Amino acid sequence: MNQWQGDRLLQQWSTELLSNDTKDSSEHNRINQQAGLRALLPQLIGTFATTDDHSIKLLETVDCGSYIRKRIECSASPYSYFAAYVLIPKQMTTPAPAVIAIHGHGYGSREIVGLLPNGEPDLNAPGIHQHYAIQLVNRGLITIAPDVIGFGERRLSEDIARNADIANSCDSLSSRMLLMGKTLVGFRVHEILRVLDILSDMPEVDAERIGIMGFSGGALIAYITAALDQRIRATVLTGFTNTYQDSILQIHHCICNYIPGQALHADLPQWIGLIAPRPLFVEAGRHDPIFPIQGFHNAISQLQQIYQQHNAEQQFASDIFEGAHEISGRYAYDWIQKKLAIID
Ligand SMILES: [Zn+2]
Repeated sequence: MNQWQGDRLLQQWSTELLSNDTKDSSEHNRINQQAGLRALLPQLIGTFATTDDHSIKLLETVDCGSYIRKRIECSASPYSYFAAYVLIPKQMTTPAPAVIAIHGHGYGSREIVGLLPNGEPDLNAPGIHQHYAIQLVNRGLITIAPDVIGFGERRLSEDIARNADIANSCDSLSSRMLLMGKTLVGFRVHEILRVLDILSDMPEVDAERIGIMGFSGGALIAYITAALDQRIRATVLTGFTNTYQDSILQIHHCICNYIPGQALHADLPQWIGLIAPRPLFVEAGRHDPIFPIQGFHNAISQLQQIYQQHNAEQQFASDIFEGAHEISGRYAYDWIQKKLAIID
């Protein structure tokens, strides 16, 4: 009797996907492939209406010692408003470089600015997000940390009514958006592009020196934003860089990681490589169970090759630290500060 072997079937599909990969790395093909992928990306992630409401509401201002923390509310799309923390160093040369800091799965932007879910100061040792927006602002970088849709106070009311402790609304949002030909990450990128507009318009910000740093699901949003918008001049991806075969296709991930058909066109390092030749730093914990270290090695060798093809080897850097699925930042924070400082 034949046995149902669903696991084997899935493995076979993944193998076929890899064998379809073109190995033509000629200059002509590479340029064509990059242009093609960049043009395809907005179609794959879905398109979204832009709001006419460009108002920015100031919700609070708090003196945090070495920096001022503001909370603002803005909008990128009709019917949807979101808040963001803006951390402004007290000591800076204006206009100053700025970084968009994007959190991963968790309770939202408060998790990276040193606050508890209720907005009270988090006096505990920082968790996997390492309060990293504070690390950035303390290096003289204006840091904006938006609340990503689906987390914290941006979970759906229907999910909270079912379970007040529900971790996020990724399933509810993603499943219905996929039916409409849209993706949750596409909408998240749409909102980050609005954040980029806001940041560029701030008088304190040097619009020529804007970077982005994302952790895990936040790194997914960060790389797509950087791939699509040249205004992002330096990018840090932490807890994310890998190959599809080693991670997203192999290990259970939240549905918000999946963009229909994306793996048919290129592997994840090629998509991330759309950032080249602009500066890119990737880091990974040696013991990350969901983005395994072997996949990180495979991805960085592909990214090194892409940066070499652009004659920009010095613009790509990486770090492996002794940790799991978490941020280290031991080199990344100083790297992004330096890269944004030396732009002509
Ligand atoms: Zn998710």
